[in-house]
Amino acid sequence: MTKHPGLAAGTGSSVVVDRCQVCDGTDLKPGIFLGYLPPVNQMRPIGARPFEQPAYPAQWLFCTRCQLVQLGLIVDPRVLFPPDYPYSSGTTRILRENFAELYQEYRTLLPLEAKDLVVDIGSNDGTLLANFQAGGHRVHGVEPTAMGDLANKRGIATTIAFFGRESAERVRSAEGPARLITATNVFAHIENIHDIVESILLLLRDDGVFVSESHYLVSLLETLQYDTIYHEHLRYYSLRSLSWLLGMHGLEVIHAKRIPTHGGSIRVYAARRGMHQVRPTVAEMLAAEDKAGAMADRLRDFERRVMMSKLALHATVLDLKKQGARIFGVGAPSRASTLINHVGLDEGMLECVVEVPGSHKVGKYMPGTLIPVVEESRLFEAQPEYALLLSWHIADELIPKLAAKGFHGRYLVPLPEPRVVERR
Ligand SMILES: [Zn+2]
Repeated sequence: MTKHPGLAAGTGSSVVVDRCQVCDGTDLKPGIFLGYLPPVNQMRPIGARPFEQPAYPAQWLFCTRCQLVQLGLIVDPRVLFPPDYPYSSGTTRILRENFAELYQEYRTLLPLEAKDLVVDIGSNDGTLLANFQAGGHRVHGVEPTAMGDLANKRGIATTIAFFGRESAERVRSAEGPARLITATNVFAHIENIHDIVESILLLLRDDGVFVSESHYLVSLLETLQYDTIYHEHLRYYSLRSLSWLLGMHGLEVIHAKRIPTHGGSIRVYAARRGMHQVRPTVAEMLAAEDKAGAMADRLRDFERRVMMSKLALHATVLDLKKQGARIFGVGAPSRASTLINHVGLDEGMLECVVEVPGSHKVGKYMPGTLIPVVEESRLFEAQPEYALLLSWHIADELIPKLAAKGFHGRYLVPLPEPRVVERR
């Protein structure tokens, strides 16, 4: 078992990655550098005097041994997620549909009896588990934030805790071992990933199945989602690198599939080696990854395309500004901060960013800028000529919504290539 020599957690600072976060390898090749990014959850109130705020270098490293693409600096989670920071869950339609589809797919692939326990790690408000519960199965969530209380109120038993050895043992002694454990959007964020996998094994029945969903590196590269690179995302998985991680713990991948969440993710089924039949989807996806070329070459190509995309977005904004157009940003998810900071958008180019009413981001500046975040109603009152979609990966879901709410302007979709969409 490899253990990183120094964890960033609790340091109030950061730790340099000089050995691979997963395999402990030392041959780490430098990849794209997006500059110094401010923590996305530290937002200065509008009008506050400038005060000292941290920014951390965001650079990828590529491990030639296990093929993992990872950030070269691990920032203390307490810096990234301040304790006083209100948590908000963004449950999009795509996400809800995906969880329902996961349930249906699982039922057709593998046996699941009524008495079987299904555990979801980072279970949020219980949306995923609700599908299994409606199917008559026993369910249990593990969720550290107040969203877990909401799940309990909905009747979905939830342990309010970070997932780890202690909470795994607590759930196991209360409910018995799990037939199925799910973890969506968890594997990229947690610093000590080996502890998480070991705790999953503690809770998983010998013939149990572990299903994870992670943002997919291949989708990220294909659709130029460099804006999903920020310090909360420590690791960027291909199936190859995820298999390596699971394999270190005696798990083998038995099924893999691409899914549309978060702009392109992979759903990976794993089980203890030899316990389940391995489906052809695994070899197929690995072959597709290999066929696309050596990862080192793909990463160099990605760097060049990101640079070209940045210049193209500048050129588009320049054209619009010459015409005297006003541009508002729509949505302030974490990825918006990377895009705005890397491209160098400022309050002259982007008058403001609008957010849904009640968002804790309203009344603050976008990280690293003087672009104010204001309530969404401003968009409908001011009717700027252009709305820059910062959640561009769900543009198809957003555009009809904004049009229905009364926005008459055009839409600027920044990535993968900047394009203008007329209202529908
Ligand atoms: Zn490695």
